[in-house]
Amino acid sequence: MKVGIVGAGMVGSAAGSALALRGVASQIVLVDRNAALAVAQAEDIAHGVPFGPAVSVCAGDYADLEGAGVVIIAAGVAQKPGESRLSLLSRNVAVFADVVAAVRTAAPDAILLVASNPVDVMTEVATRLSGLPSARVIGSGTILDTARFRSLLGRHLGIAPQSIHAYVMGEHGDSEVLAWSAARAGSVSIAAFAAQVGAAITDDVRAQIDAGVRRAAYRIIEGKGATWYGIGAGLARIVQVIAGDQRAVLSVSIRTPEVAGVRDVTLSVPRIVGARGVEADLFPDLSPPEMQALARSATILQETTAALAL
Ligand code: ADP
Repeated sequence: MKVGIVGAGMVGSAAGSALALRGVASQIVLVDRNAALAVAQAEDIAHGVPFGPAVSVCAGDYADLEGAGVVIIAAGVAQKPGESRLSLLSRNVAVFADVVAAVRTAAPDAILLVASNPVDVMTEVATRLSGLPSARVIGSGTILDTARFRSLLGRHLGIAPQSIHAYVMGEHGDSEVLAWSAARAGSVSIAAFAAQVGAAITDDVRAQIDAGVRRAAYRIIEGKGATWYGIGAGLARIVQVIAGDQRAVLSVSIRTPEVAGVRDVTLSVPRIVGARGVEADLFPDLSPPEMQALARSATILQETTAALAL
């Protein structure tokens, strides 16, 4: 599958590198407002190709996205000192107005995969601007938060994260909800399995895992200014699932008719993803407090997107 990446900054280039090294795409095209940056990133990524699967990596213009099955949108502008979140958001909406129109013209059949932050809001923006069905405008959402939740639970219980089924739902951000009550190890509730192996999930353990998931990006930003490798790998995984029509369950963000009583809201729940984009949604059984937290997260997002001038 040909994959386009618009925005060849840290996140876009990390996604390009992960796609190339995993052999997920046959062709990768990087587009950036800064053409020299796109050329340099494509060349750097291409230099790793002889050590892995065959893939062509190049920089290009929007016209070069023709025939792409998926286009990752990782374009955006950085926050200026003292700039409010809202002002930053309106500048990024302007970036998306250009980018989405250009991508739609060049690659009308592509699924859009949104990575720019705040990802749920930008996914809603791309949905409105593109006029595409919501199943084909997918935000990376809580894909990473879920991966981290599964790996921390797996580490505590001594189980491979692949065998832990647990999801982070709602906003990719402060109001996200760890769906503890629906978490399973194999097919067993994590509480029952924890008792069986003598690794009780105490309030302390729960708080540590919660912070490990919720504060991860803050910790990384403190150390290196931004995050890119994890999300790059997560984006490559989403593309792989689409390209292979895998129908895997991923927690990704799309506009959803109703979540926890909130209508038409763009956030993450576990979803079946395949060649046509999101094929179905799953709603794990949540406890009343988790359901309330999800409703709160949905309300926050809906209020933000309602204020968008689009
Ligand atoms: P991140 O860490 O999110 O990847 P960066 O600032 O490293 O952030 O990358 C964002 C990229 O988006 C930059 O390379 C920038 O040139 C690009 N960009 C910004 N606006 C546009 C636009 N209108 N069209 C294409 N690319 C854009």
